[in-house]
Amino acid sequence: MFFLFNQFIFLSRDIHLYLLHNRLIMCSTINPDRTINFKGRTKECLICLGGNEVCYTEKCRGCKGDQKVLRKGGKYKCLTCEGKGYIHLETPKVIGICKKCNGTQEAPLTAYDNVSEEEKVWIFENLFNFDKPYEKPHSEFNEGYLGIGIVCGVTDYGAYLSMTLEEFKKEVRNNFLKGFNQYVSIINKEDGKLPLEILIRKGKSGWNAYPIYEKSKN
Ligand SMILES: [Zn+2]
Ligand SMILES: [Zn+2]
Repeated sequence: MFFLFNQFIFLSRDIHLYLLHNRLIMCSTINPDRTINFKGRTKECLICLGGNEVCYTEKCRGCKGDQKVLRKGGKYKCLTCEGKGYIHLETPKVIGICKKCNGTQEAPLTAYDNVSEEEKVWIFENLFNFDKPYEKPHSEFNEGYLGIGIVCGVTDYGAYLSMTLEEFKKEVRNNFLKGFNQYVSIINKEDGKLPLEILIRKGKSGWNAYPIYEKSKN
């Protein structure tokens, strides 16, 4: 058995080689102290259109935004905009350069974004430990219905129990890789570090993976 997940070799300043179970896993965005490197990393800006700030509505020309028009001596609901005061544009109107990304179409990656696939592979290979069960008390409600405090999990009413260990590992890997995990849901809020290891609790109704932090309170 190998427990080498805290050992790493520096290949260059940005690429760390990790040794685990006789395999080498690389991840350029996880620092040797298990913090995530967000510096200089970007994601697609989701609020603009091609770097431009656009507007999808226009002030109604019929009522000039008043929602009502004068008709037969009284004020009635504007029929052009159905009383909304604005109309939807078929083609969005460019009103300037996107203030969020400055026209670059890229926004800084934050702790609220989804953990990258490369990082997930690294986390799975280095932190998931199938040799040790999670044995702390838990709340079925939180796990099953809210997913609080868990990294991933499945409610399959025990179907997984008929799997071999290799099949089960593959199932956990697939589930973790395809799931949505914000960085904040995995890293320790106190020190920003990834867990020391991730343990699986196997129950009758399914399984859940729990992060174990350095100074774990749970
Ligand atoms: Zn109108
Ligand atoms: Zn933008």
